[in-house]
Amino acid sequence: MISENLKDVEANICKACEKSGRNREEVTLIAVSKTKPNEDLIEAYNCGIREFGENKVQEMTGKSEALPKDIHWHMIGHLQRNKVKYLAPYVSLIHSVDSIRLAEEINKQAQKASRVIPILIEVNIAHEESKFGINENEVYEMVNTISKMPNVQIKGLMTIAPYVVDAEENRSFFHKIKQLSVDIASKNIDNVDMNILSMGMTGDYMVAIEEGATMVRVGTGIFGERDYGKKE
Ligand SMILES: *Cc1c(COP(=O)(O)O)cnc(C)c1O
Repeated sequence: MISENLKDVEANICKACEKSGRNREEVTLIAVSKTKPNEDLIEAYNCGIREFGENKVQEMTGKSEALPKDIHWHMIGHLQRNKVKYLAPYVSLIHSVDSIRLAEEINKQAQKASRVIPILIEVNIAHEESKFGINENEVYEMVNTISKMPNVQIKGLMTIAPYVVDAEENRSFFHKIKQLSVDIASKNIDNVDMNILSMGMTGDYMVAIEEGATMVRVGTGIFGERDYGKKE
């Protein structure tokens, strides 16, 4: 079932790339495995998936300890500063940086772990009250400040688009954030690149790819519906 789903997602990614004249290699699929048991992740792993996304530090750390070491772990959920120390040694990319204080803590814990941690700035492109992320007019200042932190490297932007029935409704948001990333890249800020644009989930990843996503975060489309009630 997971392997069938992965085939469908892969076909959709290829279709969206073809439609927009992009190479399949430009887009990385992150399998969002939050709430799912290790067996499900193994099944995806056995189909070749190596990028997994989680939104809770404790859950991600437990899975990273139990599962093969060549997995890349992506933190995609809201991150509390007091939890950064647990993921600093191994996290591959933190998608959800939305404050300077959080970046400072990541910098500190990265230093302790003797590494540089790649991050994305989370932008609340649709200005939804319920969402984390900063407004686009705050991005420059934040990027500039964080760019001076030696153990953090800004790799691009991330956004969570509104939940919509028709993915086309999110196209203009995806377009807007792509423009923003091009603008920032053109400033050539030291220690900053805009090679990653993390946008698109199960409902809208094809549109996101057409608008320039380089990472799509797909959960339900791979692992099926999540059951939050069953989880401790
Ligand atoms: C849960 C989650 C996803 C995946 O959502 P699906 O709709 O299940 O694909 C993607 N991004 C973030 C930030 C999430 O929290």
